[in-house]
Amino acid sequence: MIENGEVWTSQKSAQLYQIQGWGLPYFSVTDEGTVQVAPDPTRERNINLYELVQHLEARGLDLPLLIRFSDIVEHRIKRINEAFERAIVEYEYQGIYRGVFPVKVNQQRHLIEDVVEYGRRWQFGLEAGSKPELLIALAAMQEVGGLIICNGYKDLHYIETALVAQKFDKTVIVVLERIEELDHVFRATEKLGIRPVLGVRSKLSAKGVGRWANSAGDRAKFGLTMTEIVELVDRLAAKDMLDCLQLLHFHIGSQISSIIPIKNAIQEAANIYTELAKMGCKMGFLDVGGGLAIDYDGSKTDFHASKNYTLDEYAADVIAHVQAACNKANVPCPTVVSESGRAVAAHHSILVFEVVGVNEVRFGDPVEPKAEAHRLIKDLYETYKGISAKNVQESWHDATQAKEEAQNLFKYGYLSLRERAQAERLFWNCCEKIQGRVKRLKFVPEELWDLERTMSSIYYCNFSLFQSAPDIWAIDQLFPIMPIHRLDEQPQVTARLADLTCDSDGMIDRFIDVEEDKQVLEVHDYRPDEPYFMGMFLNGAYQEILGDLHNLFGDTNAVHVRLTDEGYEVRHVVKGDSIADVLRYVEYQPEVMVEAVRKQAERAVQSGRLTNEQMRTLMQHYEQALRSYTYLTDSE
Ligand SMILES: *Cc1c(COP(=O)(O)O)cnc(C)c1O
Repeated sequence: MIENGEVWTSQKSAQLYQIQGWGLPYFSVTDEGTVQVAPDPTRERNINLYELVQHLEARGLDLPLLIRFSDIVEHRIKRINEAFERAIVEYEYQGIYRGVFPVKVNQQRHLIEDVVEYGRRWQFGLEAGSKPELLIALAAMQEVGGLIICNGYKDLHYIETALVAQKFDKTVIVVLERIEELDHVFRATEKLGIRPVLGVRSKLSAKGVGRWANSAGDRAKFGLTMTEIVELVDRLAAKDMLDCLQLLHFHIGSQISSIIPIKNAIQEAANIYTELAKMGCKMGFLDVGGGLAIDYDGSKTDFHASKNYTLDEYAADVIAHVQAACNKANVPCPTVVSESGRAVAAHHSILVFEVVGVNEVRFGDPVEPKAEAHRLIKDLYETYKGISAKNVQESWHDATQAKEEAQNLFKYGYLSLRERAQAERLFWNCCEKIQGRVKRLKFVPEELWDLERTMSSIYYCNFSLFQSAPDIWAIDQLFPIMPIHRLDEQPQVTARLADLTCDSDGMIDRFIDVEEDKQVLEVHDYRPDEPYFMGMFLNGAYQEILGDLHNLFGDTNAVHVRLTDEGYEVRHVVKGDSIADVLRYVEYQPEVMVEAVRKQAERAVQSGRLTNEQMRTLMQHYEQALRSYTYLTDSE
């Protein structure tokens, strides 16, 4: 495709959206201009995402659609385990690695089942952070020798359940998060006559970085202080239970973008571990928590949406530092446990949604004001005509000043509504022209930085930010977003993406960029009679369960795709919520609602205000809507 005399290619799109940075080895762009997925990069088998979406739509699965790739989950688990295996071999580490998946990251049954199945080779376990998650872990982890780590606040029943489960053929470790939990443990031990396997979560002085920096430190929400840990050891010793304490745990937060705080935390924790061993505790496990980051923007930096280390470096640092501390203290090396959630789950799902409308600021050329027009309008027109690359800043000042003057004159009655409208339109003409000139400048004056955002289009999209990507709203997280087709065409429009909710926060106006972030995304011109699909990538961690029902937009349709020898199969379809489903969440009874509407219609028919046909249309729509998807659909 040739535009502006230069040839645009799919590869230029790949560069523009930085897909090589955040997408490899799973996502790339074809020469035909579509995104393709390699769910299992070791098999050189690609799925064309655009075609997949079309096929799924043809089978009756409406957008927005969450597509989960089981092979990616499998590959992520494999990569993490292999990274630790390599580090163990390289350092001749005298211990093993056992990872666990923190259930809170994504509790969906099909995913948890995938994790257990694909983790079997490595005896990959599960981590529960609450009582419901413990119930999931106990039911899902049926492996002999399987590992379950029990974190989170615990009541007596939680602890009793976990202790009894220790008598299954697996390792269930109850990690004390607060010293008070020890009393429950003693009571449960006596009542059940079971010697518990315990761990302790330590507060560290080493801090994480970024949003979760306060997950560690003395005043953190979780964990025992050094004083409390010593108290714990003494109280266990008094009951002759030092052999029960087998694991030390810490977690300094999620998405730790720099390797330095990770190293510091491991060093500190490894020393606590060896001290506990020297104090006579049985030990055997050191659990380094989560925090392994994802490169959402592909920049390989310590920016919060990125990370400045590789998975292999992470594993090597963990193993090397634990080994060094143990060798120095002459303590046997522990089984290293890690609880990576984001790093296992983020890549596997993609949200695909459709653009359904556009709000553009395109004004084109203004008409010359008549001779008798107001002075202000004639001045603005002159400003417009005079705009060039050399005087953008000066023209900007003139135009803004004139707009403000127009507002004042109107306020005091010296300008008619029609004249004010004309002035404002001329102001936007100026903005558009200035913006066009600014694009070609190397150095853009600071006061014009926001112009691009102001002049950008708004693309209305059929999805809810609050349901499908709540972290964009809650913690300003960045996800890679790009069109999944037309990538062989140059995107000529810059846009912000608005969702369906009637909340002004339901807008995406921060996107990944080479440095930090940008306020607008390059997109293609919207053609109303052609679908335009966007993909939001790397959103398999945390988003689904944090998502909420703002404006009563419910769960989206979801599919699980698995590679087969011939191609791929859709293993599971999880239908999204219907309107009746979300109404029931808020305690409505759809049948009662139908009846209430029917009665009113009946009265209207009785009194001749409504015809039978009109009533039938209303009732059909009402009842059909209850059964339908909460998002926009094209049903006839
Ligand atoms: C949330 C959490 C994790 C997962 O962290 P990621 O950064 O997603 O890997 C691990 N352990 C504990 C205790 C957590 O609370």
